[in-house]
Amino acid sequence: MEFQNSLAFAQQLDAVDSLGKYRDEFHFPKVKGKDVIYFTGNSLGLQPKRTQKFVDDIMNDWKDLAVEGHFHAEKSWWDYHERLAAPLAKVVGAKPEEVSVMNTLTVNLHMLMVSFYRPNEKRFKIICEEKAFPSDQYMLKSQVKFHGFDPEKAIVEVRKRPGENFWHTQDVIDKINEVGDELALVLIGGVNYYNGQVFDMEAITKSAKSHNAFVGWDLAHGVGNVALKLHDWGVDFAAWCSYKYMNSGPGNASGIFIHEQYLNRSDIPRFEGWWGTKKDTRFLMKPDFEPMENADAWQVSNPPVLSLAPYLASLEMFNEVGMESLIAKRKLIVSYLEFILQEIDKETDGSFEIITPEDRGCQLSVFLHGHGKDLFNYLMENGVVTDWREPNVIRLAPAPFYCSFADMYNFGQVLKSGIQSKG
Ligand SMILES: *Cc1c(COP(=O)(O)O)cnc(C)c1O
Repeated sequence: MEFQNSLAFAQQLDAVDSLGKYRDEFHFPKVKGKDVIYFTGNSLGLQPKRTQKFVDDIMNDWKDLAVEGHFHAEKSWWDYHERLAAPLAKVVGAKPEEVSVMNTLTVNLHMLMVSFYRPNEKRFKIICEEKAFPSDQYMLKSQVKFHGFDPEKAIVEVRKRPGENFWHTQDVIDKINEVGDELALVLIGGVNYYNGQVFDMEAITKSAKSHNAFVGWDLAHGVGNVALKLHDWGVDFAAWCSYKYMNSGPGNASGIFIHEQYLNRSDIPRFEGWWGTKKDTRFLMKPDFEPMENADAWQVSNPPVLSLAPYLASLEMFNEVGMESLIAKRKLIVSYLEFILQEIDKETDGSFEIITPEDRGCQLSVFLHGHGKDLFNYLMENGVVTDWREPNVIRLAPAPFYCSFADMYNFGQVLKSGIQSKG
């Protein structure tokens, strides 16, 4: 498609956008009385309007039923999380029994390491990407130390090539082959938070499995963004948060994936709690743990129903729309944003550079030459919400659920006037 940098052209794209109507289903913050252009759905997704009712329902059930709400609320609390499994499985390409919702993301990564990082003298190394999200780095290092190994020796980072801004799949695979029999685990952010790169999860998983290592993916930036086939790819485990592209509210609950092959196995260690035991005997309060037959075996506590309510509301929307149409719009809107950026770059004599590689999802990361926080602040003051990452990078994620093509055009105009006014 030949794009044009004009409002009329952007509005034409909006007119034929089958997801366009969903924009009205979200609350937008306002600046100077107008809805902002929201580029930070990769950090905290907007609030769907329907979410309030899901939360109010719980508050009302609690008010009216108190403890009876566990079993007698319209959406009973004791098994509330089970309502999320089927719609969430569709989003991540899993079987419903392979997913569960519990805790928060970093906590879940720790919990999953109990099952999938069991180092010994011979096989103790972990491969991850250089400059992984800090929480993942802290998690990995503390796990390695907990097992009595030296992070310097045990954690092997795959680097970007000098002068480049992205990772080559081949470099990851070469590293896996190099570490070979010492490789215990590959754990990478499937979509990188900084440059927006989507890793070839299928190829990397296959390579690691060929060395009998476990493979886990942190899908904080992948879920609700890119096509995932966790089951078919043979991924061992994954975890993600729900507040980025999944629009489920600040700090909200995390999802996990455990491949079917690890369900119902007594040789997989876990940290256990009462919500992982079989439902039919749970309330007999027996001393022995009998694991659920699905990923809920990894649940520890009774579900945080007030957090699950917004997640359920959001999943309802994801299922109405389907990942395929979200991904189709995402590809088009990100390409249009890229085009707009290139046009503005020409008009302002090369003011910035897109550092996101072609294997990308919803995010373009832009390195601002010679411009700093001033330009970022100018954008914020003029109703464009982006985020800032040192040094001189803004990240732009036009979430397909609620961003419009006109937003992309209007953003270009604000960016241009910002660059021109900051000289
Ligand atoms: C956002 C993000 C997190 C956040 O972890 P929490 O435990 O939810 O605070 C972790 N890892 C990655 C890769 C992220 O992008």
